[in-house]
Amino acid sequence: MSQNKYDVIIVGGGISGCAVAWKLARYNIDVLLLEKDPDVATGTTKANTAIIHAGYNADPEKQKGRLNNKGNIQIKQIVKDLNIPFEEIGSLVVGMEGDNLSVLDELLEKGKRNGVEGLEIVDKEWLLREEPHINKDVVAALWAPTAGIITPWEFALAMAQNAVANGVDIQLETEVLDVYTDNGKVTGVKTNKGDYQADYVVNAAGLYADDVAKMVGVEKIEIHPRKGEYYIYDHAKDFEINHVLFPIPTKISKGIVCTPTVEDNLLIGPTSDFVDSKEDLATSREGLDHVFEGAKKMFPDLTLQDTIRVFAGLRAADKTEDFVIEAADTVDGFVNVAGIQSPGLSSAPAIADLAAEILEDLGLTLEEKKDVIETREEPVRFYEMSNEERAKYVEKNKKYGKIICRCETVSYKEILDAIHGPVGARTVNAVKRRTRAGAGRCQGGFCGPRVTQILADELGIDTTEVRLEKNNSKIVEHKIKGLLGSKVIDNA
Ligand SMILES: Cc1cc2nc3c(=O)[nH]c(=O)nc-3n(C[C@H](O)[C@H](O)[C@H](O)COP(=O)(O)OP(=O)(O)OC[C@H]3O[C@@H](n4cnc5c(N)ncnc54)[C@H](O)[C@@H]3O)c2cc1C
Repeated sequence: MSQNKYDVIIVGGGISGCAVAWKLARYNIDVLLLEKDPDVATGTTKANTAIIHAGYNADPEKQKGRLNNKGNIQIKQIVKDLNIPFEEIGSLVVGMEGDNLSVLDELLEKGKRNGVEGLEIVDKEWLLREEPHINKDVVAALWAPTAGIITPWEFALAMAQNAVANGVDIQLETEVLDVYTDNGKVTGVKTNKGDYQADYVVNAAGLYADDVAKMVGVEKIEIHPRKGEYYIYDHAKDFEINHVLFPIPTKISKGIVCTPTVEDNLLIGPTSDFVDSKEDLATSREGLDHVFEGAKKMFPDLTLQDTIRVFAGLRAADKTEDFVIEAADTVDGFVNVAGIQSPGLSSAPAIADLAAEILEDLGLTLEEKKDVIETREEPVRFYEMSNEERAKYVEKNKKYGKIICRCETVSYKEILDAIHGPVGARTVNAVKRRTRAGAGRCQGGFCGPRVTQILADELGIDTTEVRLEKNNSKIVEHKIKGLLGSKVIDNA
């Protein structure tokens, strides 16, 4: 049945699958990651609050509680090694007049039991000094200095790229349709692109982890998608918000968060509503109103002016409301990394450690490679540079001199690098995730057609074949003379 033989196959290229690949790449084993979409990080990993949580929220008895703080500590080194945008700005759970403030003490205690350092309760004066625009009804808050903000898709991409540098194979647009077993032992997978043999399979399929688990007879995992809707604001407007701000949490949600992003946008959200479909990423008037009302409680002067986009993400919530990271008891060689809802980003390296330990317990030999590449070269980020720095790049290569996305100052050369670099971009959104082209105020209104043309030119396909993201999301139905179909980018 086989085309290729691997020791381990990882199903899913979100942060969980990419972190497992990054971890396993350090050992003398052959690893293949299979992702059904044309890019990594197209699932829940691309649409969330982008916070590296400190780790006080989940119970210490849960895997979520045990892994969050461990992940948080490791991430501080990983972002340096892999050049991932990250800022350790700290988070606050803010109690207002009329709130049940005893929750703050409960969270403090829980955080201490989870091993979180630096937690303290701060008073009104502290809060008004640190967050001058916050609601004057604040009373006290839990301060967690170890929390931070990250670019989540770049976190996953950087881990995937480092895994590839260390020998992992990644196959995109390859959907696992079934898992083969023989005598109660995993032997490989069936995909839409053919069969692959492996002794071990790691199921990191996000919202579809229950479906993949069922392929080996595991019935106990039940993923119920829970939607979170958001507004994002233009970074050109300075909102002077310095930390991640949570209200007092409810049983299933941390509430409406107000947070800066690493790119200086203001992000508000998310809602928390169960939905039927694993593909339902629609936003709603009701949901967005709820987000805005929640954010206004924190910042009464906030308006909707300067919002540039709304979006939604789906939490892959298992019925246990915990991560389900364990070996399947139905077959040998199958490991579930399922139910990875929040704090999945924050826990990712610790999730990967646990998955590796389970694989070792199942009999996989993990012998460290001698020459592991620990670092990833920093991508050129024109938007962060001064004009003097930009001029130096243009002098070296004039392709830096052509600006394709004016809102975010993204050059032609950066887009070429995104397409031709490791785990290269194949879609317009994949270019956006790697370069920020289309992430600014006009949301791709101007650069979208040019990025489409560049993708067509570089991939050797027709512009009518270029996709926005996944499935059949083609952008251009017919060519319009002078806009598409003629080279927009020539002689650069
Ligand atoms: C609203 C919201 C807010 C959140 N905020 C935070 C936060 O601030 N901090 C935090 O730590 N966490 C947060 N999270 C949680 C975090 O985003 C997730 O835990 C994490 O992204 C899950 O990653 P994953 O790799 O497990 O799943 P995904 O990112 O969904 O990846 C799974 C991948 O598997 C692929 N796949 C599925 N089936 C198959 C198949 N059969 N074959 C091949 N590939 C397949 C999918 O295409 C997908 O790419 C939030 C989540 C949501 C929804």
